[in-house]
Amino acid sequence: MTQITTAPRGALFTRDTAREFLASNRAWAICAGVIAALALAMAGVLWHMRPTTEDLPQFRARFETLRQIEKQWDLDLLALELGIAPNYDAVSRGTNVLLEELDRVGASIEGQPDLAGIAPRYQDYAATVREKIHLGDQIKASYAMLRNSASVLPAGIQAFFDAPDVYQPAGDGVRPSEELTRSVISMASFVISPTDVLARTVEEDLARMRALAAGQGPILAEAVESLAAQAEVVVRERRRGNDLMLAVTALPADDAATAIQAAVVEAEAGAVNARQRLQAVAIGLGALLALAIALLVLTLRRRFVKLDQDNVLLQQEKQDAQEQVLQSAKLSAIGQMVAGITHEINTPLSYVRTVFELVKERVMSDRMIEALAAVDATDDDTEEDAHYRQEELILMLDDGLHGIDEITTLVRTMKNFSRFDRGHAETFSVVDGLESALLIARSQLKYVADIERDFDTVPDIIAAPSQIRQVFLNLINNAVDAMATTGRRGKLVLRTRLTASDTVRVEISDNGPGIPDDVLPKIFDPFFTTKPVGDGTGMGLSICYRIIENHGGTIAVSTAPGKGTAFTITLPRHIATHNSSTPIRIGHHTIPA
Ligand code: ADP
Repeated sequence: MTQITTAPRGALFTRDTAREFLASNRAWAICAGVIAALALAMAGVLWHMRPTTEDLPQFRARFETLRQIEKQWDLDLLALELGIAPNYDAVSRGTNVLLEELDRVGASIEGQPDLAGIAPRYQDYAATVREKIHLGDQIKASYAMLRNSASVLPAGIQAFFDAPDVYQPAGDGVRPSEELTRSVISMASFVISPTDVLARTVEEDLARMRALAAGQGPILAEAVESLAAQAEVVVRERRRGNDLMLAVTALPADDAATAIQAAVVEAEAGAVNARQRLQAVAIGLGALLALAIALLVLTLRRRFVKLDQDNVLLQQEKQDAQEQVLQSAKLSAIGQMVAGITHEINTPLSYVRTVFELVKERVMSDRMIEALAAVDATDDDTEEDAHYRQEELILMLDDGLHGIDEITTLVRTMKNFSRFDRGHAETFSVVDGLESALLIARSQLKYVADIERDFDTVPDIIAAPSQIRQVFLNLINNAVDAMATTGRRGKLVLRTRLTASDTVRVEISDNGPGIPDDVLPKIFDPFFTTKPVGDGTGMGLSICYRIIENHGGTIAVSTAPGKGTAFTITLPRHIATHNSSTPIRIGHHTIPA
């Protein structure tokens, strides 16, 4: 049975429509779609939140190691420059390690989206370090030359002192040994502190020594020339090494490294911000997902509830159908039995009627008077008595004929029931049908009840008008009989409606005593009546049932003991062929006071 719930005017979304929507396939599909979309979005967010930013801490650690190697290389170079290092092996080793690490860190940046902003800064830094290494190589070469020249200096000095006349005062009274001693001292000072001033002093000393040696013998001159040449190399390489070292320290490697570290900090902060934003989105999506799942659970629950309800209705309909099958079978069996009986009764009945009429004809003849008078010839009032006896006989025969008439009527009723004829189907207004039934029942109705008409405009139907009128009249008469037993004035309500399934519904309800539980299942049975003998035949409702069934409609009763009874008839707008599954529903209902 379809239950139609209409929303109150003005309310777009009521509790009932919400329930209906939740139980619908649409709600189910929407929920499933929303959950799938949210789950996809969630997966996307989680994918973006995957820990790719771990590249940054890794880079930071690698870069710190690189910087330490670079600092160690700086120290090794400084030690070389200061002459602390025994050789340049440490710098050479450090150079290799530094270059390897430089390349490794450079390679680890490539293809890393999170480090994209750092890459150009790293290239600057790497170029600076490579320049530093290049300068370092030059310092190493200079150092080698310085070492070579410095190593031969003692032998040169010795050769100088071994030369003749080295201690003899020259023309200006200055001894060459004194000049050399001064030169060696200024050279030593320059090597310790290679300033321009000291370099000039060394150059002046060497020039003076050369000038002094020129006036001496060839051996001294040669020793001076050899010594001066080595000393010049020492001064030159010492100055070159110093300049190169200054160039190394002037390179902006530290600035480039600081820029990289700042970029790493910035990238880490950006990653943290992005992660926080993604977390907020994930939380929002999670909340929406939870909401959608809750809605899905709700729709599931509503669907289960609806399934339960539908199940109950199906069970009810099944029970109704079974009852209807039983009722139809019962009626059909009774119908066949009645057809047989009426056929058998009709022949002797017409024979008896003919006999009675013949006898009455004879009794009424004059010859009958004579015959009756002859019966008691001794009496003086023979003729008067004979008339009296004749009338008595005629009355008796009339009584007999009346009895035969009653039997004939009953047999005809039974015959009508068993051989139900659809009659002439034509366009018929149920409202007109109700009005004409009311007209016929008016004489009894006016003493018993008031009438309430609740007629909706309903379309005409195709039906057999006399039969439908008979149904209405039967139901109204039953209602009148029922209300008459209450001792108070009743109310008869007649209602017409057009149903959603395009059938016409007629309801005839009273506020009589209702139908007791033990009576209710039998009311549609033929010959069942609770009325006193002579008042009811028990055929009314079973005939109504057959008529409505043959019109393809339904008849149902609802009753509330003590409150009243309502019969509901539904009729298709167009007459249908006999429908054996027409349900007959019997049940209790609540009739408003
Ligand atoms: P009848 O009217 O001859 O008794 P029906 O078949 O019309 O035969 O009705 C069968 C029985 O159903 C009635 O005897 C009565 O007990 C019950 N009945 C029918 N209509 C009503 C009603 N409106 N209120 C109470 N009982 C009813």
